[in-house]
Amino acid sequence: MSARASIIPVFVPHLGCPHACVFCDQRRISGAVRPASAEDVKNAIRKAAALPCNGAKRQLAFYGGSFTAIPASRQEELLAAAAEAAARGEIDSIRLSTRPDAIDGETLARLRRFGVETIELGAQSMDDEVLRLSGRGHTAEDVERAARAVRAAGFALVLQMMTGLPGDTPEKDLETARRLIALDPDGVRIYPTVIVRGTELYDRWQKGEYREHTVEDAVEICAKLLPLFEDAGIPVIRLGLNPTEKLSGGEAAGGAYHPALGELVRSRILLEKARALLAGVPAGSRVTLGASPQTLSQVIGQKRKNLRLLQKEFSLAELRVRPAVTGAGEILLLKTEDDHGAPAGGGGE
Ligand code: SF4
Repeated sequence: MSARASIIPVFVPHLGCPHACVFCDQRRISGAVRPASAEDVKNAIRKAAALPCNGAKRQLAFYGGSFTAIPASRQEELLAAAAEAAARGEIDSIRLSTRPDAIDGETLARLRRFGVETIELGAQSMDDEVLRLSGRGHTAEDVERAARAVRAAGFALVLQMMTGLPGDTPEKDLETARRLIALDPDGVRIYPTVIVRGTELYDRWQKGEYREHTVEDAVEICAKLLPLFEDAGIPVIRLGLNPTEKLSGGEAAGGAYHPALGELVRSRILLEKARALLAGVPAGSRVTLGASPQTLSQVIGQKRKNLRLLQKEFSLAELRVRPAVTGAGEILLLKTEDDHGAPAGGGGE
């Protein structure tokens, strides 16, 4: 992915969207109720210009999930406003998100003409049954075809996936991740399913036809997905819906909505790493772990949850963590002592 960017978001609601994704209620998620216009683009850029960006590149981002499915004339109106701002040096690049089945040669040529740099595709799942039960209206093959076309046309590619959709399982999520990795994206976003009031999914959940994908479910599966992507050199640029006042205020009726979901997931990954390190440590030991200063709080966990859990699980007399010189995401076993302060098996400075 390109260097750190300061994002200028413009939400493009697709009010006449013919699809019926069960989790979607765009107006509730965004608070927007009318189509976006060139004036909205100009206003967003003007507002952003008044804020410091500390040297970061300014990137205009059309969000909403189906930019290239809105009428071509409106796409051109919005893109022209963005391209003019780019020509004046007010923004550095343009990105947008869209559906895989709304990508074809003509569309890509239009986006290229207006200088779009990055295209995000909402894949959501690579399991056709999950896509069907979720009302997505496209197949996994559509995702592959669109991703390859985007790449071949020279755009940066970002893929979005969801976990916990109707018919989904952790195995299907892992398979989705593997198939997305095979498409070689420049980045991915992972959105565990949130049950938003007023959606089809909300109704199904109320009727007992959909089993909620809880925060705990999401943390468990995302702690497996994240290393898959990162080990393949693909950054996860977002994990979980951006918190908004409306969602936090009750619109998110259930599902995996948590303002710090990414933090919880990274904390879970470190918990598993600590488990592996402590496996051979005798019960009753006093143990000191080391972690980089940036990840210290994630190792400890919210309300010291990880430390309490590990201490109990391995019957340790004491478990501490202190800053150490190590890579972010790594944990060291710094010291292991028995009850009398003598070195115990498995550890050492
Ligand atoms: S998420 Fe689905 S229903 Fe909602 S706007 Fe996008 S394509 Fe339409």
